[in-house]
Amino acid sequence: ERLDHLYVHESVENVIPPEAFVEAFDGLDVSVDLVGDGESFGETDAVATYVPRPEFLDAGWVHCIRAGYDEFDTEAYEAAGVPLTNSTGIHDTTVSEIAIGYMVSLARLLHVYRDNQNEGNWYTPDYERPFTVENERLCVVGLGTIGQGIAKRADALGMDVVGVRRSDEPVPGVSEIFDPADLHEAIADARFVALALPHTPETEGLISDEEFDVLRDDAYLVNVARGPIVDEDALVDALDQDAIAGAGLDVFETEPLPDDSPLWDFEEVIISPHKGSATNRYHLDIADLVSENIDRYQTGETLRNRVA
Ligand code: NAD
Repeated sequence: ERLDHLYVHESVENVIPPEAFVEAFDGLDVSVDLVGDGESFGETDAVATYVPRPEFLDAGWVHCIRAGYDEFDTEAYEAAGVPLTNSTGIHDTTVSEIAIGYMVSLARLLHVYRDNQNEGNWYTPDYERPFTVENERLCVVGLGTIGQGIAKRADALGMDVVGVRRSDEPVPGVSEIFDPADLHEAIADARFVALALPHTPETEGLISDEEFDVLRDDAYLVNVARGPIVDEDALVDALDQDAIAGAGLDVFETEPLPDDSPLWDFEEVIISPHKGSATNRYHLDIADLVSENIDRYQTGETLRNRVA
C-alpha cells in the first residue's frame, strides 16, 4: 500500500515551527497537512509527531520527530504492525556542540563571567580555577550519533577521549573503549563525563550515588541525553558535598525543571532548557529524514531509523 498523505501532528510545535515544517515537504508526491488531536488515520497515511497518540496506531507509518522515543509504546506498534521511526542520526552537530560548549564554559568560566556581568562585576577568579579542556580526559558514555559527534569535536580540541560502548569496534577520536560493565573504571579518571545514550530500563539511574563516589571530585557531568539516566537527588547531594565540581545539563527528570529544584542555584551548574537540538534549521533536518523515509516506504525499501 502506498502512502498518499503525510499528517503533521501539531505537537511538533514543541521543537519546530509547524508551518515551516509542512512547507519543507514541497514537491513531495504525497499531500501534507497539519492536524490536531481526534483525527482518524488509515493505512495510506503517515504521521509525523512529537507525542504519541492512540489513534496513530491505525496509520501506515508513524515518525517520532525526536531521537528519544521512550514515550512511545513500541510493543503496541509491533502488535499493530505499524512501523515506528525516530529522528536519530541528525543530532551529531547540534547536540554535540552544546556538550562541547558546556565543557569549554565550565573549564574557562564563561558562565561565571556572565553571572558577574549581570551584576556589573569585573570579576577575577581564583588563580587555580580556570583550566583548558586540552589534555583533559573526557569519557563519553554511549557512542552513537551524538556520542561520536562529541568525541570527534573533543578530540579536535586536544582532549583525551575514552568511551563506553556495547561493542568494542573502534570509534574515531576515541583512544579507549570500555564495556558498559566497566563503567566505573571508564569514568574514574575522567575530568568530564558526557552522557549520550538513550533512556531505557537499563540506563535509568545509571549515574547515581556509587558513580558520584567513583568520580573525581574535580569532575564535571554533562547530560545531553535524558534526565532519568541520572539520579537527580544523588547529583544534588554530590554537588552539595563537593563530591564533583559541576555539571552541564540539558535534560532533567522533570521538564520543565521545577522552580524549587536545587539545581538552579549552583554556580557550577549550567542549565539549558532541553535545547540541545534547537537551531534555526532543525525542521529541515527532520524533513530530510522524513522525506527519505517516504521514498523508501513508496518503493518498499526498509525504513531508516525503524525502532518498532
Ligand atoms: P543513537 O541511537 O545514535 O545512539 C545511542 C547509542 O547509545 C547507541 O550507540 C547505543 O548502542 C548506545 N547505548 C544504548 N544503551 C547503552 C548502554 N547501556 N551502554 C552504552 N551504550 C548504550 O542516538 P543519538 O542520536 O546519539 O541520541 C542519544 C540519545 O540522546 C537519544 O536517545 C535521546 O534520548 C537523546 N537526545 C537528546 C537531545 C537533546 O535535545 N538534548 C536531542 C537528541 C537526542
